Amino acid sequence: MPHIQQLSSHVADLIAAGEVVERPASVVKELVENAIDAGASAIVVEIQRGGMGLIRVTDNGCGIAPEELPTAFLRHATSKLRTAEDLAKIGTLGFRGEALAAISAVSRVDVLTRRPGDTTGSAIHGEGGHMEPVREEGAPEGTTIRVADLFYNTPARLKFMKKDSAETAAVAGLMQHLALSHPDVSFKFIKDGQESLHTPGDGKLESAVYAALGREFAKTLVPVQGRGGDIEVRGFVTAPVNGRGSRSMQVFFVNGRFIKSQLLTAALEEGYRNQLLKGRFPGCVLEVLLPVTAVDVNVHPAKTQVKFAKEHDVFDAVFHTVMDALDARGGAVTKPAPP
Ligand code: ADP
Ligand code: MG
Repeated sequence: MPHIQQLSSHVADLIAAGEVVERPASVVKELVENAIDAGASAIVVEIQRGGMGLIRVTDNGCGIAPEELPTAFLRHATSKLRTAEDLAKIGTLGFRGEALAAISAVSRVDVLTRRPGDTTGSAIHGEGGHMEPVREEGAPEGTTIRVADLFYNTPARLKFMKKDSAETAAVAGLMQHLALSHPDVSFKFIKDGQESLHTPGDGKLESAVYAALGREFAKTLVPVQGRGGDIEVRGFVTAPVNGRGSRSMQVFFVNGRFIKSQLLTAALEEGYRNQLLKGRFPGCVLEVLLPVTAVDVNVHPAKTQVKFAKEHDVFDAVFHTVMDALDARGGAVTKPAPP
């Protein structure tokens, strides 16, 4: 056996980066979440060649102080978390302080940023985790992060990338979810020079559904709203006659975070009781709001899973909200016609 040695920080960083940055869509997710956490009301995402050529995210949020710009790229560097106790009450999408470090470790990045009120902006460039000194530079209010040549220094990962079209589709799907999860933010998504999504950011979930998922899907939806204790459930579910062939149109958010959850899926489907034909599934855009202390978001590096403190209560709140809404429109008495 070779001797045991601690890895160099460079190799350790590359390994850690692999967990956070799996593909272009993971970069877009992290950058957009940062923009949302920065309080942006408008976010523009541009990609070229599925994000492998270029990813650019522009926001009009709070910006980054010039002296903190290099720090933002260090591992475990964050403005969103201070103490161990804070971990129990996370109200931001980010908190791990890993994303910018991970992204910069496996790409060439440029940041241009200016805080509202500052007279000039600042810029930084980095390649493969090495950041150059901060430069003073004119900039609009907010932050633009440009990521080029993703995985240029990790051939193992580069080899496993799918076709550009598949990566583009993954980013487009993600953009739908992000836009739906924040109707108060105007999202624009441009792929290879073409605008493919634009939400108004008027705060209405309905508007975001319409813009992101289209008129046809919006027409099949029934609004739902309810609560159980301090758990609030609201959004839209498909009418029972509009059961779908898969679960792909089930979109859940918990406190503004898009997540995957078997518990929520089960609760939703239970709400339909026997109203759906065998092999048909409901679609939904459902938001669950609950106190930040009642949900653990520190479950997985990609933050797409959560753990509820009171799973039964969450299940019941979703189940009853959906059932009541469907009952109220008289759905319970009519069985859907065969497709
Ligand atoms: P995290 O989001 O978990 O804090 P990141 O590595 O994603 O970690 O970002 C590090 C820090 O950089 C953030 O905590 C935030 O202070 C700052 N930051 C990143 N992106 C932006 C942005 N678009 N606008 C303002 N600040 C940002
Ligand atoms: Mg982040």
